[in-house]
Amino acid sequence: MLTPQVHTLDLNFQSQPGTIAVYLIPHAQGGILVETGPGSTIPALVEALAGHNLRPGDISDVFLTHIHLDHAGAAGWLARQGARVYVHPRGAPHMLDPQRLIASASMIYGDRMQTLWGDFLAVPEDRLSVLQDEQVVDVNGLTIQAIDSPGHAKHQYAYLVEDICFSGDIGGIRLGGQPYISLPTPPPDLNLEQWRTSIQRLQARQPARIAPTHFGVYPDAPWHLQTVAQMLADLNAWIEQVMPTGPTIEDLQQMYLAFERQRAIHSGLDASAVEAQQVANPPSTSADGIYRYWHKYRLPNG
Ligand SMILES: [Zn+2]
Repeated sequence: MLTPQVHTLDLNFQSQPGTIAVYLIPHAQGGILVETGPGSTIPALVEALAGHNLRPGDISDVFLTHIHLDHAGAAGWLARQGARVYVHPRGAPHMLDPQRLIASASMIYGDRMQTLWGDFLAVPEDRLSVLQDEQVVDVNGLTIQAIDSPGHAKHQYAYLVEDICFSGDIGGIRLGGQPYISLPTPPPDLNLEQWRTSIQRLQARQPARIAPTHFGVYPDAPWHLQTVAQMLADLNAWIEQVMPTGPTIEDLQQMYLAFERQRAIHSGLDASAVEAQQVANPPSTSADGIYRYWHKYRLPNG
């Protein structure tokens, strides 16, 4: 099996190193990217590419795991430099016309929208390719396969490139080489059952390495995926304990913050690592997702 050369480009999002990655895999005529980062970090992306003697126009293909702003915000810009952009069918309409995506994000981020995320340009239709589940793309000898991975978002793929799995957000968030993984559980698509199935699909492919967008390439994909499966089980148990008591959203945010903090400290993270974790995965957003998931999917059945 080939082991492709993968470079982790650090976008230094919000001056916080090691939180949002773009992955570069060079090939004979330039390189491909997995993810683009947000529009706000295009200068950092250009600088990181220059470190590998590449210009933005040398990027032939961009594979988006999903269309959240921290993953796909710069895709329209890269498409205008000549890249082909690959995306999940459910994400494609938003890449062609991001107005609704921008409007709903603006409701959350308000006047911090531009500072945090920058511009989200549309991808021109002739630069966009919609992938089907398990579809394989060949780029200059590199083989990239898309695996449908809902749970965090309905519009998420993981990508398999030889022995490595680019997990987007479905593989959770793992920073600084630590053996600690947290689950980003934002509204509106969170679905723990789908998430569990997605992890099982990835485990069946037996990747050796795993590269969550937040952050870095890890050599222990089997351990990582098993830990995510365990976290899903733990989170599910916690939700079943907490939600029937009928907490308000504010109560839930406080309880979830305590739950996450306790897990992190139990795993041996120090205070600064806990803080970086919360930049990459704001606990209040995750609590909002859990609240909505419970009321949408679980309460009607229970
Ligand atoms: Zn996401």
